[in-house]
Amino acid sequence: MYFCMETVSAAGQACSQRMPVIRKTDFMTGNTRYPGQIDDNAVLSNRDHFTPQPMNSQDLENINVMSFDAMPTPEELHKRLPLTEHAASVVNASREALRAILDRKDKRLFVVVGPCSIHDPVAGLDYARRLSALQKEVSETMLLVMRVYFEKPRTTTGWKGYINDPDMDDSFHVDRGMELARKFLLDVCELGLPTGTEALDPISPQYLGDLIAWTAIGARTTESQTHREMSSGLSTPVGFKNGTDGDISIAINAILSASHPHSFLGLNDQGRVAIVRTRGNQYGHVVLRGGDGRPNYDTVSVAMAEQAMGKAKLAPNIVVDCSHANSFKRPELQPLVMTDVINQVVHGNSSIVGLMIESNLVAGNQKIPDDLTQLKYGCSVTDACVDWETTEKMLREAHAHLRSAPR
Ligand code: PEP
Ligand code: MN
Repeated sequence: MYFCMETVSAAGQACSQRMPVIRKTDFMTGNTRYPGQIDDNAVLSNRDHFTPQPMNSQDLENINVMSFDAMPTPEELHKRLPLTEHAASVVNASREALRAILDRKDKRLFVVVGPCSIHDPVAGLDYARRLSALQKEVSETMLLVMRVYFEKPRTTTGWKGYINDPDMDDSFHVDRGMELARKFLLDVCELGLPTGTEALDPISPQYLGDLIAWTAIGARTTESQTHREMSSGLSTPVGFKNGTDGDISIAINAILSASHPHSFLGLNDQGRVAIVRTRGNQYGHVVLRGGDGRPNYDTVSVAMAEQAMGKAKLAPNIVVDCSHANSFKRPELQPLVMTDVINQVVHGNSSIVGLMIESNLVAGNQKIPDDLTQLKYGCSVTDACVDWETTEKMLREAHAHLRSAPR
């Protein structure tokens, strides 16, 4: 892209028979020099053949790109949907409570609970209202954070979430998806409910980050440097999932990496590409989600995770995901996982700081139908969930159990 190399003869004529020499363009040299470089010849020989000749890169780049459609800038979207005073106080207070739980200054557990993904904001808000009422009931023992997941990592292909394709018809109106996602987050925060999400696209937090209290990095991206860098600059505590193969070392390495400052390419509020320089995030923790066909919420797996974190000189802060491989993706098993984990806590475990539940209004999941009017209300279109009644029962039982044995 920045320079061209071609074969030329001693007389400067194109000739593939002779010894190849490299012809420089002023594109390449210009006034740009490598550190310590005082002479172009230090890099390329055959100065005689220097012929400034900028090439048109259009023929070489974006071969597989159809278009670049402009997005509103983060600043523009914030102006259209400004953070309200109440939402700001909810985000602030819940982040502070999460940090206090991770620092053991608050003895409660936090529970990230809600749909695998949001696809219908009406059903999503119906869910949020119910959860907000339940939150008041259990707030003595648990801090409830609603799962508001808009970006879905797929093992191969499939609907990638509400931001990517809000109309669920492969029309991919990402600009509208981002706006609707921001509106939904605002509405949930206005209900007094903290939100948790998976940060998948490294640009999205610039649009939505002020409305998020907790962030997950998924099993498929915990090992990615891009996601570790992004996490180092996020304003929320970040839970790193173990890998889909069950490996927790990638989550430990991610916590270590994200706790350090990084500099990388990103976007500023004005939509300009920027060098993002971060401070490092001190609130990384592990989320055990099972893997390789095996759960990892049992006492032995939890003890091994604690030891591995201790060896890495990390505070043993562990969240257990009751869903995904910990319940073999069978939602009816999530309550059993939750009961087991609460038992561990009640019997003295001090490394488990939180839980995750995949829950929706209606149990199970559904395929996205061609005719979207056939979508079942309140039912997941990604991973199967427990229904609302089961969710209430799980949280009420956990509350009663935790209350009976104060830590
Ligand atoms: C999820 O939380 O829905 C999810 C995709 O989780 P994981 O990254 O553990 O597969
Ligand atoms: Mn899921």
